[in-house]
Amino acid sequence: MIIGLKSYAIPLPSSRDAVLKKIPMSQRIAISLRCANCGSEISPESGKYSCPKCHGILQVEYNDRLIGKDSIFSHSPRSGVWRFFEMLPVEKSENIISLEEGNTPLIRTESLGDGFYVKDETRNPTGSFKDRPNTVGISKAVELGAKTVAIASSGNAAGSLSAYAAKAKMKCVVCVPEDTPNSKLKQIMVFGAKVAKVRGTYSNSFNLIRNSCQKFGWHNLTSVCTANPYQVEGDKTAAYEIYERLNDPDWVLVPLGAGPLLVGIYRGFWELREAGLIEKIPRLVGVQAEECAPIVRAFKEGAKEVTAWEGKPHTVAHSIADPLTGYSQDGTLTLEKIRDSDGVAESVNDEEMLEAVWQLARGEGIFAEPAAASTLATANKLKRKGVISNGDKVVLMVTGTGLKSSAALDLLAEPPVINPDPDDLTEAIR
Ligand SMILES: *Cc1c(COP(=O)(O)O)cnc(C)c1O
Ligand SMILES: [Zn+2]
Repeated sequence: MIIGLKSYAIPLPSSRDAVLKKIPMSQRIAISLRCANCGSEISPESGKYSCPKCHGILQVEYNDRLIGKDSIFSHSPRSGVWRFFEMLPVEKSENIISLEEGNTPLIRTESLGDGFYVKDETRNPTGSFKDRPNTVGISKAVELGAKTVAIASSGNAAGSLSAYAAKAKMKCVVCVPEDTPNSKLKQIMVFGAKVAKVRGTYSNSFNLIRNSCQKFGWHNLTSVCTANPYQVEGDKTAAYEIYERLNDPDWVLVPLGAGPLLVGIYRGFWELREAGLIEKIPRLVGVQAEECAPIVRAFKEGAKEVTAWEGKPHTVAHSIADPLTGYSQDGTLTLEKIRDSDGVAESVNDEEMLEAVWQLARGEGIFAEPAAASTLATANKLKRKGVISNGDKVVLMVTGTGLKSSAALDLLAEPPVINPDPDDLTEAIR
C-alpha cells in the first residue's frame, strides 16, 4: 500500500513562518525524506535514495519552507528550473549544475482544436523534459559528494544525464534496452558516458542499475521515484510554468513511463493550491501506448494497485514502453495521482501516435517523437468520446523532440535527385 502525498509539505502556521524568516537559509534544516510505504523518516545525508527498511518510495518534505506565493515565485535571479530554487531540494546554490533547462514555451495552437496548448518540452537543452529532473538529481548528487552517477534509460533520460555529468565532471554509467534507437545512443556517447545495451525490456536495465548502484556505491539517477526521490521535484516546475500562463487549465495530458513527470506535475499544482493560488488541481490524463499500458489497465479495471506488464512491448513509443517489472509501486503512485486529480488514463496505438506526429509537425511546426505526440493522439480520442468538451483548456505535454527518433524519421521517403534546372525542379516537387 502506498500512502498519498497527504503528509507532504504541510503549510506552516504563520507564527512559525515569521520566526523562520529571521533564520538565514543556510542555517535551516531544510528538507527530510519520508517513506511513502512505511512512514520512516530518513536523513538526506544518509545518501539513501530509497527506504532502507522496506525499499519504499522516498518523498521530499520541506520542513522549513512556507508553501506560499512568495516561496514559489521568489524572484530568484536564476532562470528556468532554478528560478524555483526555494522549492527545490538542493541546499546550497553553488552545487547547482544547470544547462538553462525549463522555461519552455506554452504555445496556443491554431490547428489542433479550440483551447489546445502545447507545452513544448522539446526545447530543453538535450531535447526532452528529462533535463528538468536531471538538473535537480545531479545537483543533489553533487551536494551528497557523488563521484559516479548511473542511470537506466530508454534513451532520453540518459542523453540528458550524460550532458549534465559532463558539465559536473562526473563519471556516468548508462544501461539502455537493446532496441534503443541509434540516434539516442549516439547522443549519450557524444557526452562521454559509458553505455551498455542490456538484453530484454527496459525493466532489465532498471534492475541491473539498481543492483550495481548498491554494489558499487554509485548514485542512481534513474528518473523513477523508487530509484531517486529528488528528480520528481524538478518535474514539478512544469506545473509552476503552466500556472504562470494559464492559472489552472481543465486538463493536462502527460505521457507515462512509470509516471514521475505526472506525479511531479501533480505536486506542483498541489503546492499551488496549498499556497491559495488555485482552487483545484487540473484533471491529469496519463497516456500510454496500447502495447505497454500497465497503468491504463489498472485504471480501467478499477484496481488499487498496478501490476507489471507481461511480455516484450513492440511500439514506436520507446520512451514510454515501461513494463514496471520489479517496481510496479511507481505505477501505483502515478495511478493514485491520476485519480486524486479526477483524471483519466488512456492508451493509443502506434498509428494514432504517428498520425499525431505529422499533425503537430505540419499544423504547428513542432516535431515530436511518437511517445511525445501521444498526448495529442489521446486528446483527439477523448474529444471524440466527449470526455474533453469544446471550450476546455487543454495542455498537451509534448515531452521530446522527433529529431532523435528513427521511428518517425525512417517513414520519410528519400527526396529525388535532380539537375540544377528549374523544369526538373517543378517536376520533382509536383
Ligand atoms: C521519459 C519520457 C516520458 C515518460 O516520463 P516519465 O516521467 O518517465 O513517466 C515521456 N515522454 C518522453 C519523450 C520521455 O523521454
Ligand atoms: Zn519504508
